[in-house]
Amino acid sequence: MATYLDYNATAPIRPAVIEAMTEAARSHGNPSSIHAQGRAARHRIERARAVVARLVGRDDVDVIFTAGGTEADALAVHGLGRRRVLAATIEHDAVLAAAPGAPRIPVTAAGIVDLAALETLLSDEAPGLVCVMWANNETGVVQPVAEIARLAHAAGWLLHVDAVQGAGRLDPVALAAADSLALSAHKLGGPPGVGALLVRDGLAVTPLIGGGGQERGRRSGTENDVGIAGFAVAAETAVREREVEVRRLGGLRDRIEQAARAHAPEVRIMGAGVDRLCNTASIALPGVPAETQVMALDLAGIAVSAGSACSSGKVKRSHVLDAMSPGDPVAGEAIRVSLGWASTSDDADRFLHAWGAMRDRLSPAAR
Ligand code: PLP
Repeated sequence: MATYLDYNATAPIRPAVIEAMTEAARSHGNPSSIHAQGRAARHRIERARAVVARLVGRDDVDVIFTAGGTEADALAVHGLGRRRVLAATIEHDAVLAAAPGAPRIPVTAAGIVDLAALETLLSDEAPGLVCVMWANNETGVVQPVAEIARLAHAAGWLLHVDAVQGAGRLDPVALAAADSLALSAHKLGGPPGVGALLVRDGLAVTPLIGGGGQERGRRSGTENDVGIAGFAVAAETAVREREVEVRRLGGLRDRIEQAARAHAPEVRIMGAGVDRLCNTASIALPGVPAETQVMALDLAGIAVSAGSACSSGKVKRSHVLDAMSPGDPVAGEAIRVSLGWASTSDDADRFLHAWGAMRDRLSPAAR
């Protein structure tokens, strides 16, 4: 069995989630049907809304279930009724592709949204929607979303937060003022293909597609009651275990970074020194293409990814690292190690052993 360290791409599905989904699949019904089976499916979905909202610490939001984080981001960008959109340069493609022509908010060398530049952009444009992620999927760098909400609201803008990577890993207190939030189940040990857009009570949402008018007219299509049942268990578990897991995974992550640095002084840890997700390490090996590193580690039984893998499976230069350090070759030389609920100390040891051997073989600094 490979050592799996790619939780920011997707997490293994938790056994309790599989159980809940199996049970839901056995009694699956159309939640719009009025018979007992339909009502049971409806009940599962309604119960799941409050559970999912707890991931972001909010009880003043409407939960619109979607087919994942990508759809939730697109629904926010297109559905919140604001023509103008501003998005951070480091956003996930789900946001960037939904707002292709939108001005981009730059980030500092540490990967944090440049608040002075944001303020200028907010005052230059008529009010619209600001999109900033809670934590970056490649570096784990946490964004100052409470401060961004304050700046956005003072200028009459709405704030959408892509909370896909932060949910279950960060204290949600910073999200109190966000107008909408995107979530995805599969980063938490839930199933892929299920997510949610959470919208502040009273904010109107125009659906992306027409149809049967499910989700109170904002997202048509028969609800995925089986997937939503799994999402609820993943969310519940992540909320319950968050504080313990943050300490445990943070310890493993720190050990990996310290050992990598001790073994190879040329190593660069991207986003080091600022607030980051407990589970994420972005480790650059100067002079060694990220794709080569990922393949060498794969041959050694270790599953990690380069910052950004596109659907073709090819590794492309990281737009996130490029935004932090324009023109720096590091954007093509960093791998992402991301831990999660089933990660162990042995996984960290196996990674370090394989990574050390790979570095000694491939790094120009080792010659
Ligand atoms: N936003 C962020 C920050 C992500 O990391 C991802 C997944 O990689 C998404 C959105 C998209 O979520 P999904 O895979 O559920 O469509």
